Amino acid sequence: MQYINGVWIESETMFEVTDPATGKVIGQVADGGANEARLAVDAADAAFPAFASLTAYQRSAMLYKAWELMTARSEDLAQLMTSEQGKPLKAARNEVKYAADFLLWYAEEAKRVYGETIPSGRADQRFLVMREPIGVCAAITPWNYPISMITRKVGPALAAGCTIVLKPADQTPLCAKAMFEIFDEAGIPPGVVNMVNTSNPGSVGEIWLADDRVRKLTFTGSTRVGKMLGGAASSGVKRVSMELGGHAPFIVFADADPAHAAKGLSLLKFLNTGQACISPNRIYVHRSIADVFLATLTERVNKMKAGHGSEAGVSIGPLVDEPSVAKVERQVNDAVAKGARVLTGGERLQGDGLDAGHFFAPTVLADVTSDMLIHSEETFGPVAPVILFDDDDDILALANDTTYGLAAYLYTKDISTAWRTAEGLRFGIIGINDINPTSAAAPFGGVKESGIGREGGHVGLDEYLDTKLVGWSV
Ligand code: NAP
Repeated sequence: MQYINGVWIESETMFEVTDPATGKVIGQVADGGANEARLAVDAADAAFPAFASLTAYQRSAMLYKAWELMTARSEDLAQLMTSEQGKPLKAARNEVKYAADFLLWYAEEAKRVYGETIPSGRADQRFLVMREPIGVCAAITPWNYPISMITRKVGPALAAGCTIVLKPADQTPLCAKAMFEIFDEAGIPPGVVNMVNTSNPGSVGEIWLADDRVRKLTFTGSTRVGKMLGGAASSGVKRVSMELGGHAPFIVFADADPAHAAKGLSLLKFLNTGQACISPNRIYVHRSIADVFLATLTERVNKMKAGHGSEAGVSIGPLVDEPSVAKVERQVNDAVAKGARVLTGGERLQGDGLDAGHFFAPTVLADVTSDMLIHSEETFGPVAPVILFDDDDDILALANDTTYGLAAYLYTKDISTAWRTAEGLRFGIIGINDINPTSAAAPFGGVKESGIGREGGHVGLDEYLDTKLVGWSV
């Protein structure tokens, strides 16, 4: 179903939603297109003046109500996410909590959209800087974090006074529907949030980017699609924020505790079965501690259980679809052909009820070198490629040798090494002996081809605000 102008709308055609662990159809969704995309902008444009005129306190109350409803429904949302997207229930619960945090944070932050006065060089002049909502925003979200990527955009957009048209990924429309039911029940006025589902994303994107009434594009997804959409947005000089792909380095220096670092990596790398933009994709370990690191990592990975995310003890869910499994397989085969050793995993998982899903074994690769595909391509799967290094002086250049710049991690006990490395890494997010440098209160985003702009924190609100200068002769 589409949600446009506060009304749920059917379409003539439907598309199916499947559980990636079983291949079973779990729902049907109305298939929208250009017409629905236009209707959504009509609604968002009409709703904008009244919504922008509400007080910050009124908008805050709506976000707060949505947070309350989300919190009350958190277990249902997590279970839905596990069946639609595949992540284990514990990870789904964590995502729902993280997603709800954005509604609460921006409910609070809505009241802090401050302006500024600036001294003028003229005695008879005053300068006033005001912050105003941009207008109608188009949001496009991915399947891998199907709820938090929605609240990370809707939260600040509404706090700023913008209205929004949103297209969720076609693999996870049921999670999106559940969130729009919450927005509806929270009393968000008709037209303020609108959702268009489609199996043909280009048809919706084209309409939104060609429409002058849409003043901003906020996109989370692959760098390939981001570049295409960003190009189209530029012809209308729209504001753009992009959260794109990543290829995170994870550096373990000689003075780090290798067992502790391996534990951190095993938790981080296999989260969401490796389908995270901040997932480590190049694990650089100092040769002097490599044996303990690899042994600990392999031992931990060997204990991981794959299966349906709702089963107890499962920590490895399915990949989202068959092309994703084929991509992981291609990278592993390429690495092995070029000399990498498979310490565990390395193949598709079949049998034991996994045949109908898209499973790949959690994998550790040793002896990885920079000529292998996995060293330059985002994997988006459960493979940990380990590369040994000897000289600390080389590591920054190696880690920065990528077109991506989202997250990077380092393990060391030396304060100077930590400081210098964090400064030298050309990435938007750095974890120092830390595997979760994210929070609704903190700015998330990348440099280089990993994105433009930030989501979360008080800077996340700036992305939805225009700055207006008033020069006043007194
Ligand atoms: P994707 O293929 O780029 O899709 C993302 C969204 O864009 C989906 O809603 C998709 O719709 C839509 N889309 C695709 N082509 C479009 C077009 N021509 N016009 C309008 N919309 C279009 O990415 P994905 O495979 O879903 O997500 C994985 C990628 O997202 C990875 O690269 C990951 O690193 C990145 N990611 C980044 C962050 C971050 O914060 N930096 C967070 C999560 C994910 P359909 O689903 O209908 O194709």
